Amino acid sequence: MAILHKYDAVVVGAGGAGLWASYELARAGVNCAVLSKLYPTRSHTGTAQGGIAAALGNMEEDHPDWHCYDTIKGGDYLVDQDAAEILADEAIVTVLDLEHMGLPFDRTPEGKIEQRRFGGHTKPDPNNPGKRIPVMRACKSADRTGHMILQTLYQQNVKHETKFFNEFQVLDLIMERGECRGCVTIDIASGEIHIFQAKAVILATGGFGKIFKVTSNAHSLTGDLVAMAWRHGIPLEDMEFFQFHPTGVYEKGILISEAARGEGGILFNAHGERFMERHAPSMKELAPRDMISRYIFEEVRAGNGVGPHKDAVWLDVRPDTINKYHSAPGGKKVTAHGLEAALPDILEFVRLYEGLEPMKEMFLIQPTAHYAMGGIPTDVHGRVLRDENNSVVKGLYAAGECACVSVHGANRLGTNSLLDILVFGRRAGLDAARLIKETTFEDVSPKADEVAIAQIEGLKSSKGKESVADIRKKMQLTMDQQVGVFRNAEDMKMAIGAINDLREAYQGVTVMDKGARFNTDVLEALELGYLLDLAYVTATSALNRTESRGGHAREDYPNRDDVNWLKHTLAFKNNGGVEFKYKPVTITKYQPQERNY
Ligand SMILES: Cc1cc2nc3c(=O)[nH]c(=O)nc-3n(C[C@H](O)[C@H](O)[C@H](O)COP(=O)(O)OP(=O)(O)OC[C@H]3O[C@@H](n4cnc5c(N)ncnc54)[C@H](O)[C@@H]3O)c2cc1C
Repeated sequence: MAILHKYDAVVVGAGGAGLWASYELARAGVNCAVLSKLYPTRSHTGTAQGGIAAALGNMEEDHPDWHCYDTIKGGDYLVDQDAAEILADEAIVTVLDLEHMGLPFDRTPEGKIEQRRFGGHTKPDPNNPGKRIPVMRACKSADRTGHMILQTLYQQNVKHETKFFNEFQVLDLIMERGECRGCVTIDIASGEIHIFQAKAVILATGGFGKIFKVTSNAHSLTGDLVAMAWRHGIPLEDMEFFQFHPTGVYEKGILISEAARGEGGILFNAHGERFMERHAPSMKELAPRDMISRYIFEEVRAGNGVGPHKDAVWLDVRPDTINKYHSAPGGKKVTAHGLEAALPDILEFVRLYEGLEPMKEMFLIQPTAHYAMGGIPTDVHGRVLRDENNSVVKGLYAAGECACVSVHGANRLGTNSLLDILVFGRRAGLDAARLIKETTFEDVSPKADEVAIAQIEGLKSSKGKESVADIRKKMQLTMDQQVGVFRNAEDMKMAIGAINDLREAYQGVTVMDKGARFNTDVLEALELGYLLDLAYVTATSALNRTESRGGHAREDYPNRDDVNWLKHTLAFKNNGGVEFKYKPVTITKYQPQERNY
């Protein structure tokens, strides 16, 4: 028998999005529980290095309007501009709130929050009318910004006595009469099933980079609730847009934050050429990520790659190189000491994973699967939307990387995700607090946990021979090779066929551990099921969009096609397949233009 709980609100996920939502709920006096499959401070938000964007203008002139424009242009005009305006405007109060909570931001000698440059964040070039150059907009705490955000928000929740259920993995949503009324979870330690009844459920479960092999994402980023929402008939928006970050550790995918280039790092090809000068003359290494990842691939294809298989390029953060190519504000020189203070973890990663000294040598980098622009569609209050007419699913919210609001459109700018998760996590929490006051509890079926229990029992009693690790490896390689930085119809059709075969094989998957306590074997098998669904929706959505835009680059359709494709994709589950519908992009101030840097 499942153990029953009743909370006004349940937040699933304890990263930045979930913790700000629960903080708002707790402050509003709402009886709220946070469920997290990880211990909260192990959430992926804690690995974010580079910073959080806000046009504070502490280092040089800056405005929320400029930030908004960059976000829209960076997203290749697929951004909903009303949402981007909120993102850029509320950035300032969000960062100041964090400061007041005690987050130890880096500071200027005058005591203001210090900021650094980041890809795609610009200001007008005073010497070159019509052109734009990098601006210092990223607020940071060395290269541990996400860690500081997560710790700060966790402390605030402890202070406000939020109830945490740690290492509770959600297995299903309770959807009745088209409304969300709670969720079904397993207590990982005991294997007991718990049912949480709630007036509002906020999904804040992060990304699903584990559909790829070479990825910066943590093992836990398996898109559980994104897949569950899809299985319950909620469409997924813009799933074809997955971001490849240009600078992952060679062959391992571990992230070398854009902060390395924000501090002046330079990319070189095999001929010692700073190739970004050729591709993006104004922004160079600080062009948006989608572009740099493509240019790296183009360099490799042109025979300009380096490394054992000539499939990488160099990243150079040696102070001498940086000083040769950049003139720092006030004519100051970059020093080894200064870089160690600005990028302590990143330099340590290079020493650890590449086995070399980054102050003396260049190191190899390669694009790595990084961020899901697509996800569960929501409005600007975090309310989940069920169709192309923006009908709201009562009782269900989503915020953070699992959601698509859509502020990132076809390509996210660095430092805009930490911002997105906090701005829209807060908004979801505030709106849920409002909803809870207006509604009463609805009944939950006593059979709410049937599907979840059947899945677990099915895995334990399976007589099949298929292994989770094998299927996962094949899926990840397929996605890397056929739905990567560059895509074409032929490859993607093969990928969809292969993923379908793997979904079939998954029916025969077996687990070794038949016990109840800490059965990670079963949980990993369930997670593989979510990943297979999301790989399938990603590949199918990518084949469907016959244009190139932002992070979606088609060799067979190399141009952006605003006439036919200036619209959001909604991928619905239909008999195990996908049915596509569309909705328009919200445009307020900025008409689509050619995107050059
Ligand atoms: C290495 C790295 C560096 C990054 N650097 C930056 C940066 O500098 N700036 C920036 O803006 N962005 C950065 N990003 C992106 C950004 O960090 C993430 O997009 C963001 O932190 C996601 O936050 P979130 O709250 O949505 O989810 P997460 O922080 O990923 O948290 C997800 C939560 O969901 C829970 N969960 C998941 N599934 C279940 C389930 N089934 N049941 C219960 N709980 C569940 C987990 O336990 C976890 O608590 C980086 C990302 C990576 C991977």
